[in-house]
Amino acid sequence: MEERIVTTVCGICDANCGVKLMVKEGRVIKVEGMKEHPGSGGRLCPKGAETLDIAYAPIGWESGLHLFGCGEDLCELCPVFEA
Ligand code: SF4
Repeated sequence: MEERIVTTVCGICDANCGVKLMVKEGRVIKVEGMKEHPGSGGRLCPKGAETLDIAYAPIGWESGLHLFGCGEDLCELCPVFEA
């Protein structure tokens, strides 16, 4: 399966900073700030920058996608959003 870039927001806090996710086989493999986002301008706080470590911690969830704001592309990829 190809890697794809999904644009969305970090869902850890209400700031909802813009993020670009690299997704491969339904898993996020890279997170970076979205420079085009009017609020965050590409910046992520330490929590946002370490989202993958949080998502894939031993007590984490299967895909990690639930930590990001919902969007059409994410709904398609993440069973959590389909519930
Ligand atoms: S990157 Fe940090 S400040 Fe921005 S939404 Fe995520 S947790 Fe909140």
